[in-house]
Amino acid sequence: MAEAARLSPDDPGLVTIAGVDLVYDLRGGAPVQALRAIDLSVAEGSFVSLIGPSGCGKSTLLRIVGDLLSPTAGRVAIGGRTPREARLKREIGFVFQEAALLDWRRIRDNIALPLELRGVDRATRFAKADELIRLVGLDGFQDAWPRQLSGGMRQRAAIARALSTDPRLLLLDEPFGALDQITRDRLNMELARIHEITGITVVLVTHSIREAVLLSDRIVVMTPRPGRISRIIEVDLPRPRSLGSREDGRFGDLVAIGSTELEKGYRDVRA
Ligand code: ADP
Ligand code: MG
Repeated sequence: MAEAARLSPDDPGLVTIAGVDLVYDLRGGAPVQALRAIDLSVAEGSFVSLIGPSGCGKSTLLRIVGDLLSPTAGRVAIGGRTPREARLKREIGFVFQEAALLDWRRIRDNIALPLELRGVDRATRFAKADELIRLVGLDGFQDAWPRQLSGGMRQRAAIARALSTDPRLLLLDEPFGALDQITRDRLNMELARIHEITGITVVLVTHSIREAVLLSDRIVVMTPRPGRISRIIEVDLPRPRSLGSREDGRFGDLVAIGSTELEKGYRDVRA
């Protein structure tokens, strides 16, 4: 089902962003225009990455989609709802660079927290947490404390927690940025597998063009501030992907296309 959505150019999109501007109004200082005229549609079941230089507004855009911030102008819809409605219906899962687990709760209790807040009974939420623990590869760590987990394992737990309410949309803001390369590779593949199995729609913010090419159906390249979309790259690598996909000649071509586009943005700023 995800495949059909991915291939249809007429898909109205699970997420539609139309004419979004965001100006941070700093008291006493000059306003900062972080985003300008963003139009984007994210097809249901697809995997989209946002890439661009630091400060170009990637986190700002993700926060607007996730209802952590309201746009100054423009509209966002998620499955026909406002971000607020979608968030309140628990249709959005959010993962940040820092896992932000609660230190005084065991892993299972951390993962089950959104369900607990929703009033789901203990047996049901623990069953769901255990299913997710298996999905993210944390078997055997249900009863561990967060401090006993490595950085990569903590991010696995954060992903499981974000998935606990069966959201339609998973938003990830540089979730693997603080991890070493080998851990990052492994978590990339876990994320690809989770996307494949669940059919969930993913929007990933990343600094890494290689990570974006490896995982995505489409890569949205943004310009330096004020962030605009400079190009959308369609990633036509076959699925399922593996780390071996990086050996594909097409992978190198796409990385080069993305790097050139990013570099162009920097040039325009200097000019
Ligand atoms: P990115 O995630 O691409 O690095 P951000 O979305 O975090 O970029 O930030 C975009 C721009 O907006 C940056 O110039 C940043 O300094 C500014 N900015 C971000 N958050 C705030 C805020 N709360 N108040 C004022 N300016 C902000
Ligand atoms: Mg950011």
